[in-house]
Amino acid sequence: MLKVEHVTKYYGEHLAVKDLNFTVSDGEIFGLLGVNGAGKTTTFRMITGLLDKTEGSITFNGKKVDYNVTDQIGFLTEERSLLTKLTVLEQAKFYGGLKGLTESEIETRLDYLLERLEIKDYKTRKIKELSKGNQQKVQFIMAIINKPKLLILDEPFSGLDPINIELFKSLILELKSEGTSIIFSSHRMDHVEYFCESLVILVKGNTVLSGNLSEIKEKYRKKNIRVVGDLNKSEIENIKGVLKVEESSSEYIISIEDKSVVENVFKYISKCKNITKFVVEEPTLNEIFIEKVGASYEK
Ligand code: ATP
Repeated sequence: MLKVEHVTKYYGEHLAVKDLNFTVSDGEIFGLLGVNGAGKTTTFRMITGLLDKTEGSITFNGKKVDYNVTDQIGFLTEERSLLTKLTVLEQAKFYGGLKGLTESEIETRLDYLLERLEIKDYKTRKIKELSKGNQQKVQFIMAIINKPKLLILDEPFSGLDPINIELFKSLILELKSEGTSIIFSSHRMDHVEYFCESLVILVKGNTVLSGNLSEIKEKYRKKNIRVVGDLNKSEIENIKGVLKVEESSSEYIISIEDKSVVENVFKYISKCKNITKFVVEEPTLNEIFIEKVGASYEK
């Protein structure tokens, strides 16, 4: 388990991260989100031991992250960090060697990962000859060559087409099922929603939202019910807890205060005619992100 407790980082006078707290259990994928300059890279570097924190504590399985632990860590950075003149195999031997793996361990793992990412034929090709997407695959392979116990994925799907994104997703879920603690960072909220049970949103180093995603959605008051059928708009508007009813060309969108109102709306709708749709919508993470980040910028 990774524990980040009361972590603060100053660059000189500049506060980059303030009193950050979260934990990532074994086999959990945790979201660390924020706009540009929010403090994500700073946090990743502190977690991996590349950067000293100003205050607070970071431990992995109860131990301070230092050279004894780095063999268990994988870090897929947003920027490319490959030695492009090397072949994929040479790069893997170099990188895997740094992680303490033997040459035969490296080759077995590399063959497996090349197969999974469908680039078996590129093993002895120079990295500079590969396309952007295939370089991203090689970079991902390097990050997980050591079967890390703690893995940081910063914008892992950058430059990938939807088919390759699926290949990455299935490998990420495999690592999760093997117990790897994963920190996932992306500006694509749909990907974050797909993977993460819990998350933190940073704005200028401050935590503006944190916790379990379903609980966050639960607390978030905005909910809509979409209905298709013959309704009387003003009768719905009179139901306690209904905020407003909009009528689009094809359906009614009923905004409600919270989940408890659903039952009353449902009771009313069940008496109406020609109902072909009744869907209770949760707010998307994208909506929550924009509202939270937007609000903290306005302060
Ligand atoms: P991005 O999504 O753009 O990569 P980020 O969330 O990773 O952004 P950081 O790179 O961690 O953000 O930067 C957090 C803050 O710290 C920013 O205000 C940035 O300008 C500042 N900062 C980052 N590195 C340094 C440094 N070496 N010296 C001084 N300030 C820095």
